[in-house]
Amino acid sequence: MKFEPVIGLEVHAELSTKTKIFCACATAFGGAPNTQTCPVCLGLPGALPVLNRKVVEYCVRAGLALNCQIAEESRLDRKNYFYPDLPKAYQISQDDQPLCRDGFLQLDSGKKIRIARIHLEEDAGKLVHCRGERERYLLVDYNRASIPLIEIVSAPELSTPEEAVEYLEKIRRILEYLEISDGKMEEGSLRCDVNISLKPAGAEQLGTKIELKNLNSFKALARALAYEIQRQSALLAEGKAVRPETRKWDEAKQQTLAMRSKESSDYRWFPEPDLGPIELDSKEVAAIAASLPELPDEKKRRFMEDYRLPEYDAGLITSSKYLADFFEAVLRHYNNPKAASNLIMGELLRLMGEQRLAMKELPVSPVHMGELLKLIDEGKISLTVGKSVLEKVFFSGRAPAEIIKTEGLAQISDQAQLRTVISKVLKEHPQSVADYLGGKKKAAGFLVGQIMKETNGRANPQVAKELLNEELEKVEK
Ligand SMILES: [Zn+2]
Repeated sequence: MKFEPVIGLEVHAELSTKTKIFCACATAFGGAPNTQTCPVCLGLPGALPVLNRKVVEYCVRAGLALNCQIAEESRLDRKNYFYPDLPKAYQISQDDQPLCRDGFLQLDSGKKIRIARIHLEEDAGKLVHCRGERERYLLVDYNRASIPLIEIVSAPELSTPEEAVEYLEKIRRILEYLEISDGKMEEGSLRCDVNISLKPAGAEQLGTKIELKNLNSFKALARALAYEIQRQSALLAEGKAVRPETRKWDEAKQQTLAMRSKESSDYRWFPEPDLGPIELDSKEVAAIAASLPELPDEKKRRFMEDYRLPEYDAGLITSSKYLADFFEAVLRHYNNPKAASNLIMGELLRLMGEQRLAMKELPVSPVHMGELLKLIDEGKISLTVGKSVLEKVFFSGRAPAEIIKTEGLAQISDQAQLRTVISKVLKEHPQSVADYLGGKKKAAGFLVGQIMKETNGRANPQVAKELLNEELEKVEK
């Protein structure tokens, strides 16, 4: 029997407000432990929370971008449970009246994934497990306690690991475009839990649901899902039952491991008595809607239409708002979209990757990039030299024209100079010349390569090719 996976994602995104959700403590990442706390986020008796209005605005931005209904009145509730990272022994979240509901996100295939809800909640602290030789202990850092989060819950409508990755990537991109979350999975500002079950192909009824945790990267998400699909299919094929449980992804073993069996937990939800309802009127929502930026999919379509970029290029360049803005800024200085996209996707992204820089930290200015593209198009330098100049601009911040001048990198189109190089190359490679004369026209390519090598890539390839042909004809006679 064939089985179909049914997958749903719960995505938690840390909002990038300057202060926490119910107090004025800073949210900045990386502070010394327990230095960004106060009686409110430590849950000391008598401390009263005050809702950060910016958090509501950010959540509404996400809701609108994901096509949700925005509630005019929603409520905060207490979710009660004990854990050392939760000083109040309850988390303030939203139960049955979330801020946003009934949205959707469209995949590239056109398939719409419904978004059941987006709600606000506060983050917990961070536990640091210490294992000494004689003792084991636990430290708690409450800097992260009460950092604002939104939880985006999809309907169980994803069918493959690829769809799940695309969905999460699109969410990450949208949050980055909205400038409400930096979406860094490695730093934990974007986290996702996954529900997955298998059912016989075509069946209505869903199978037993497994929850997957500890998915810290897109790769982990894809692999954990692939592993689970295989594991559950094997069990079902043998006629065995899948046990409802929470499993975690083990990166070292590349498999999911059982964490705990899934019991129906009762969190004793009740309305948060210290905070009133969140009220929004239609004017406020309309003002937020009017302030939304162009979103990734719209931008991609526009790049394909306005700049005639292939879909692949447009997708890659709009995968980051910073990169897309950079691309358009380059075009304002020099308008050759396809050449700009080629150089960005090839050289620039390679350098960014090697230096492990985030797009925000892009060290090349649009002016310099535009100048470089113009120099290449005008034939002042070859594309090969252009790439190495870009690398120098990247590391030094100097202007391309200045680098070309001081390092003598200008393209050689001078015929006399090129003829000298060509006769040297012909003398050094008599076999290739003989091959060429014997009918192996391919040998000309090798000889052009030698000319480029001899001139450190500075020979104008077009002129070099023509002159080479002339010289070879002379030899032939
Ligand atoms: Zn605080």
